[in-house]
Amino acid sequence: QQQIILQERPNGMPDERTFQFKEVEVGEPKENEVLLKTLYISVDPYMRGRMSDGPSYVEPFQVGEPLNGGVVAQVVDSASDQLNKGDIVRGNLAFQEYHIVEASSLSKVDTNGLNPSTALGILGMPGLTAYFGMMHIGKPQEGETVVVSGAAGAVGQVAGQLAKKAGARVIGIVGSKEKAAYITDTLGYDAAVEYKEGNLSSQLKAACPNGIDVYYENVGGEISDAVWPLLNTFARVPVCGAISSYNLKEGEEDIGLRVQSFLIKSRVLMQGFIVGDFSKHFKEAYKFLAQGVSSGELKFEETIKEGFQAIPDAFLGLFSGENIGKQLVKVADG
Ligand code: NDP
Repeated sequence: QQQIILQERPNGMPDERTFQFKEVEVGEPKENEVLLKTLYISVDPYMRGRMSDGPSYVEPFQVGEPLNGGVVAQVVDSASDQLNKGDIVRGNLAFQEYHIVEASSLSKVDTNGLNPSTALGILGMPGLTAYFGMMHIGKPQEGETVVVSGAAGAVGQVAGQLAKKAGARVIGIVGSKEKAAYITDTLGYDAAVEYKEGNLSSQLKAACPNGIDVYYENVGGEISDAVWPLLNTFARVPVCGAISSYNLKEGEEDIGLRVQSFLIKSRVLMQGFIVGDFSKHFKEAYKFLAQGVSSGELKFEETIKEGFQAIPDAFLGLFSGENIGKQLVKVADG
């Protein structure tokens, strides 16, 4: 069975030298352990930060050690009374095809007729992130204008729909025509702005004639520089991510528009957050999202690459915008 390790820390965009596949043995489960077969692996933008060794809110990956992150797997052998053969579980696990782990480190996934992949997307970390950023920090009100960047991605697709549900007018910033059609036709966004078409400032101004009350920030950089001048009095800015800066080379700086004067003039509240900050409220958020999905009110997409070997490609595709909705790698059938 295979695992994927961090071969070398990248400087700038990761490439083939960053990753290496390795054959490893898998043993037998001892008491309280289970043997798992990986079904889906989640590739996420934050993994890029872990490939560098600077201080952050998650431990960096170690060179020569396997990457790890969100995995959905099936129990194929159990020496624990907590889990049975056939159960589907989610865990933060090494990226490999089979695992032996303590049952207590896993959470059982109740698929409710849905594909288990949803436990890594809309009913997993990205869905929760959208929920807390939008509902606890953005707090959209009826009639307000909400802008979401990275609007067709795993987090963005949920964030925009939550703002719609709250009665706001919602505009999404995306990188392609296909994504623009997805967010307006399927997700119900009121308008889409394509940043690769150029003239972002004037496109955004035209799409937001009443200014912007909530800006759900996923990307940073020049895209967000076009947002700051349009922020209304008492606007809220949940700062969820800044993907445009994740692959800067050593010594390159993320310099943009100076934002302070806009924040002061409009008394804007800008707050960075990490989804884990809200762990006390995970249950209520899961329930809310699961109800939305089962009633059909919350829509979502997944982009799935097949095979363990597709991990580097799937990960790098996040930075060229290949994915619509949550990017996953399917490793095996359940
Ligand atoms: P996405 O599914 O949104 O995938 C990334 C998308 O970002 C791409 O599809 C692409 O869409 C866009 N993108 C890539 N490079 C750039 C760039 N240079 N400039 C502008 N857009 C770019 O990922 P997630 O939904 O998983 O994550 C979205 C953001 O949320 C990330 O910044 C991530 O780090 C952050 N995050 C934060 C969490 C937290 O706890 N704070 C938790 C989870 C995610 P397009 O084609 O539109 O350019």
